[in-house]
Amino acid sequence: MKNEFKQEYEKLRKIAEDEAAERREAAYQAEPELKRIAEERRSVIFQMGLISAASGDPAAAREKALSEIQRLNKLEEDILLKLGYEKDHLEPRYRCSMCSDTGFLGNVIQKPCSCYLKRLSARDFASSNLNSGESFENFDLNIFKDLRQRSLMKNAKALCEQYANGLPDSTETKNLLLMGKTGLGKTYLVNCIAHRAFQRNVHVIKLTGYNLIGRVLKSIREGTNIEDVMNVPVLCIDDLGTEPMMTNITREYIFSILNERLNAGLNTVVATNLSYDDILDRYEERVFSRLISLRYCKVLMLEGEDVRLSVK
Ligand SMILES: [Zn+2]
Repeated sequence: MKNEFKQEYEKLRKIAEDEAAERREAAYQAEPELKRIAEERRSVIFQMGLISAASGDPAAAREKALSEIQRLNKLEEDILLKLGYEKDHLEPRYRCSMCSDTGFLGNVIQKPCSCYLKRLSARDFASSNLNSGESFENFDLNIFKDLRQRSLMKNAKALCEQYANGLPDSTETKNLLLMGKTGLGKTYLVNCIAHRAFQRNVHVIKLTGYNLIGRVLKSIREGTNIEDVMNVPVLCIDDLGTEPMMTNITREYIFSILNERLNAGLNTVVATNLSYDDILDRYEERVFSRLISLRYCKVLMLEGEDVRLSVK
């Protein structure tokens, strides 16, 4: 996994290290013995490398050096405590104590730290244009003038909210399909779900069908993968059907994204203006079954008047 925030983490580490250097300088002024200890320890560490390479018994030499370092550490700690400092007063104070602001844990096999995943999630949320304030909290049913439509939307909202509150693990069907004509509030509901997922610290990516195929084409052109779209716990695809239909690409990628995500137990929310027949015509049976089959999917059909026309 590549570090997407390399420069930000470098900056954080530099701030922590510069700040530690200042603290050290002040402590050395107050007690020069601390500086002497630091120099001695550096020299022991340096010689440890030389000795273990040259010595007949490298393990014993290493052991001796380590115990010398421990003695110096203890000495340093006692002086710091006597001066009224914390015992780690000379160490950098990283934002994240788990990864020391590197973003990754582990030496040989590295895995992303939770602070890294949080950053990734916040970035994807921001780039999905979800900061518009469209949320379940702000959902106003009064914009639906027709009472029957209002009652349908109330149910739709409740169902979507229940689905969103179960993310990522407890939703019994992994996919949610929102169908209906333009202007019935599908995008709004998708945004509400994505927003709730983000509030609950679930990583979410939202894009349109058009953006999705754009991403696919870019990855083909650049020889990269679409790992984030495949692996993100919640993927929201709005306006499926607006993407260009390209031979050997559109159907194939949409199938493999839906299929691999289902196999991996990940949640996908899809909104479309297409009818059942349109979906079957456009994407064929295997995509259709992953979108419509009750085994995988909850289908929500929105009906009524275009609210964008009736909102004053
Ligand atoms: Zn971390």
